Amino acid sequence: MQVNGACHCGEITFTAEADANFCVLCHCRDCQVMSGAPYRSILPVKEANFTLNTGQPKCYYKRGDSGNRRELTFCGDCGTHIYATSVEEDVPQGKRMLGLRTGMLAEVADLPPKRQVWCESKIAWADDLPALHTPEQNGQ
Ligand SMILES: [Zn+2]
Ligand SMILES: [Zn+2]
Repeated sequence: MQVNGACHCGEITFTAEADANFCVLCHCRDCQVMSGAPYRSILPVKEANFTLNTGQPKCYYKRGDSGNRRELTFCGDCGTHIYATSVEEDVPQGKRMLGLRTGMLAEVADLPPKRQVWCESKIAWADDLPALHTPEQNGQ
């Protein structure tokens, strides 16, 4: 399916072709800290199937437990996370997989995750969301 992404301020926009069956929930500590949320939903796409339409994401590099560096991109103006990927030293540009952050995709409601990963650091109450009081209108 085609997905359409835009950061919060609208500076960065892109389209990508992805297989919705690979959508995953990630409970790793990095996703918790960097997203500011208890977990994150990710859609992998091939770099060759990703088209940046406007803007230029900034990069932040982190070194994972494996020792490999990861490139994490975000909007330098509003801070919206765009994707994470390998560094070009490890995988040639154009051949990388991009882990799109699904929250800024127009199609997020059509991308239910198919599995969850890094459950060692999962926050226990994340399993209990259906039990929460659900107001009929926002904010009540
Ligand atoms: Zn932005
Ligand atoms: Zn993660």
